[in-house]
Amino acid sequence: MKAIVYDAPRKFEYRDVDIPQIDPDEILLRVHACGVCGTDLHVHEGEFGARFPLIPGHEFSGEIVELGSDVKGFSKGQRATASTTQACGYCFYCKRGDFLLCENLGGIGVEINGAFAEYIKVKGDLAFPVNKLSVREAAMIEPTACAVHGMEVLAVKPGSSVLLLGAGPTGQVLAQLLKLNGAAKLTVAAPAGQKLDLIARLAADEVVAIDRQDPEVHQRRLSQLSPNGFDYVVEATGAAPMAEDAMRFVRRRGTILIYGVYPDDALGRFRLAEIQRRELAIKGSFAQIDCFPRALEYLESGKVKVHELVTHEFALKDYQKALELAWSRQGIKTIIIPPEN
Ligand SMILES: [Zn+2]
Ligand SMILES: [Zn+2]
Repeated sequence: MKAIVYDAPRKFEYRDVDIPQIDPDEILLRVHACGVCGTDLHVHEGEFGARFPLIPGHEFSGEIVELGSDVKGFSKGQRATASTTQACGYCFYCKRGDFLLCENLGGIGVEINGAFAEYIKVKGDLAFPVNKLSVREAAMIEPTACAVHGMEVLAVKPGSSVLLLGAGPTGQVLAQLLKLNGAAKLTVAAPAGQKLDLIARLAADEVVAIDRQDPEVHQRRLSQLSPNGFDYVVEATGAAPMAEDAMRFVRRRGTILIYGVYPDDALGRFRLAEIQRRELAIKGSFAQIDCFPRALEYLESGKVKVHELVTHEFALKDYQKALELAWSRQGIKTIIIPPEN
């Protein structure tokens, strides 16, 4: 089969590899499409604990072409996706039931071969049927599952005012989930353009264009909109200066959620006296491990809408072009289509 294979950071090739051999507890999927996300850009740089050689790609769906003898509840020809994180079951955190915190957590597309390929094998117990979603929408299941986990971490008090920084693909989903889960008023701040326009249509009550040249403009606008700040500030840009800025907008006893994906060495500076005196909380949310069923409920019921998010499609052989588009920060979501689709 054809696949994108990294032999080392920044060194990948579109080449022929063997179709994965499945174990009795595994499923072989013919990949329909796989989304490109910020994590893939970090994997490209060798960050995130990426293990090489590696086929990246973790936002996929496909058709079941082979089933291991121990797999239950699926049939050939069915469409499916799979949760991408696998806990070891034996470490300190797994023994406490905190599987997402597993010290040996394996991630498809990071430590385990992913879906920038014609076929991918997944564990049967991590697979989920996809019934109503288009191939494009299905690329948003994994990011939606991560956003559902973010909502769990944030635990918004009903009737709160929330500021979301960033309107990328995950921001678009987070915004809708925030409106469904306690945000009485949602303000989104992001650079002006297609993403901000879409989030205004999908979920935001107010949008504020971020001006990177003259940050005072958006800072002033945000303090006009909410003179006492926001109960929750969700940082979903992955830019360290934005995370530092979150402190400026959060109200007393408010919570900042660090949700973006940052370079491994990114640092944020916070005034400790402010955290103490204003009784602030800073939380982190990382990936997900048990949120696929709930993400599918939101997407298949149409409560969370993602059909407008995929703005670009590339053939698998053109992965380099997809990366360049992602670096240029154009479009919203890009998906990769393997041959034979
Ligand atoms: Zn992702
Ligand atoms: Zn573990």
